[in-house]
Amino acid sequence: MNPRVIQVLLIVGLGLLLLWVFFRLPGAGRTKIDYTQLVTYIQQGEVQKLVINKDAETAQGDLKPVASSEGVKLARRFQTDIPKDPSELIALATEKGVPVELTRASAWSSFFSLNSLLLMGMILIPVLFFWFLISRQMQGGGSSQAFNFGKSRARMVNPEKTRITFSDVAGLDEVVDELREVVDFLKDPTKYQRLGAEIPKGVILLGPPGSGKTLLAKAIAGEANVPFFYISGSDFVEMFVGVGAARVRDLFDQAKRRAPCLVFVDELDAVGRHRGTGIGGGHDEREQTLNQLLVEMDGFEPNSGVIVLSATNRPDVLDPALLRPGRFDRRIVVDNADAKGRENILKIHLKNKPLASDVDIAVIARRTPGFSGADLRNVANEAALLAARKNHNHVSMADLEEAVDRVLAGPERRSKVITEKERKIIAYHELGHAIVAYQLPGTDPVHKVSIIPRGLALGYTLQLPEEDTFLLSREQLLNRISVLLGGRTSEELVFGQITTGAANDFERSTELAREMVTRFGMSDELGPLTFGKKDASMFLGKALMEDRNYSEMIASKIDQEVKRIITECHQQARDVLERSREALDRIATVLIDRETLDRAEFEQLMKQYERQEEAPAPV
Ligand code: ADP
Ligand code: MG
Ligand code: ZN
Repeated sequence: MNPRVIQVLLIVGLGLLLLWVFFRLPGAGRTKIDYTQLVTYIQQGEVQKLVINKDAETAQGDLKPVASSEGVKLARRFQTDIPKDPSELIALATEKGVPVELTRASAWSSFFSLNSLLLMGMILIPVLFFWFLISRQMQGGGSSQAFNFGKSRARMVNPEKTRITFSDVAGLDEVVDELREVVDFLKDPTKYQRLGAEIPKGVILLGPPGSGKTLLAKAIAGEANVPFFYISGSDFVEMFVGVGAARVRDLFDQAKRRAPCLVFVDELDAVGRHRGTGIGGGHDEREQTLNQLLVEMDGFEPNSGVIVLSATNRPDVLDPALLRPGRFDRRIVVDNADAKGRENILKIHLKNKPLASDVDIAVIARRTPGFSGADLRNVANEAALLAARKNHNHVSMADLEEAVDRVLAGPERRSKVITEKERKIIAYHELGHAIVAYQLPGTDPVHKVSIIPRGLALGYTLQLPEEDTFLLSREQLLNRISVLLGGRTSEELVFGQITTGAANDFERSTELAREMVTRFGMSDELGPLTFGKKDASMFLGKALMEDRNYSEMIASKIDQEVKRIITECHQQARDVLERSREALDRIATVLIDRETLDRAEFEQLMKQYERQEEAPAPV
């Protein structure tokens, strides 16, 4: 039904209700007669009953029924004004044998009696409630269906209309390559089905806000030219329990009917948070919605042609069940771009803006480490606004420079400004980790070194294991500690001073050293014993609750041992870095310039610069 029709019906209903209440008023529906007429009626003995209201100075009564022409008896009701002192009237009525009733209440007070109010409330509240729902519905995109709370709010986007393609995305080449496979599948599912290949049902994009996740999803739909259902996680979360779940069901019903297609759940964290972690009530709804999502994702076949894409910037709060195989089992990290990537993003957003000849986009890109794609779009737009304000015909370099400052200071960007000096320190710190990892055996290869701030970290060195290892030797553990200490050691070596940027490294290295002594029995001094009861299973990460079951003497021995391990590893890291000092300096220059080095680039640079040396002796 059309919401408009329902609104009209509601108005008519309300009107009828008011009319009804009005007619229940005393005096309503009675013929008004004058006092002399009343006296005449009483004298003629025609009045059956009289109700006198002294306060309101009115009297109401019924005439005796008379046979009408059709033979039907009609009761005639009347009302009249009476004098202030009705004693004369009462006397007359009594004399003529008319029963008289005296009442005090005013007409309106009976109207506002408790009963009537309750009645009105019972009718009005639901009416207003529906009114509210319907007007919301009408605002929400003028959908022609009312009462469809359970319908998904997903908007189907026609790919031809948006026309966003991968060429609108810059600085995310690796990600785009990975997503091309998804596009390929959507374009020609049979190609994969024929070979029995399974395309993942769910792909999740993880990355900081503004890095282009939503943009990528739109680009996929544009490239594949298939229907694209867009819904934001928060659309599922409603005030009524069960609504979100119904919406999920409906969304997947629609999607399955239109396969091949893409369902994009943006801001997945709104529904996908850990279940059962909320405080107080009100989480049932989200939980049900999430459960329904899991059920739906399990419910369709991998090759049914529906691919669920989702995005979040809070992977840490996602329910682990979402990341289990068969659901969002492909995870793609969408990071903020490096200098080259930022240059390309700027180019995209400056494409349709006339640039003055002095503009050097590469310089601006270099000035904006840590900027997200959205920030860079703001820079481009802000620069154009500035140029327009000055009535220029072109966007000049000065406009762009000023725009960068504005975006940096702007409310949307909360991340910190990093000075040149700090960038240098961060580069040396990260390379410290990377080079120690490269030089020492038994450590995971360096996958990526970056000085682009990410989350709380100012830079990061990503090491990925070649293969899963479950048993680590003493030497491997020591080397890992050396790698953790490598960052700080490099700062000491190069700058002769130390910064606060290594706190997390120390936490992890100390933890590891303590584990070696107290859990793995790897200390010669203390022997193969474990000390303290631990309740967590793995050694990295998890904070451990410790139950002390050893003496003070042992405790101080443990501390000594931990300290010895750390000192030795520190020395080892220092040795490595001193030997590779030339490589460190040269690669740091490259890293400051390029901001990220991947494994191949890093290893190639290392080979180029490192001096031949014999493998370092284990501690
Ligand atoms: P997210 O969903 O990751 O928070 P969006 O995709 O909404 O970020 O990005 C907001 C806008 O910023 C995009 O519409 C686009 O104009 C711009 N943008 C972000 N990343 C890029 C990129 N890699 N290339 C080009 N433009 C980008
Ligand atoms: Mg988004
Ligand atoms: Zn570090």
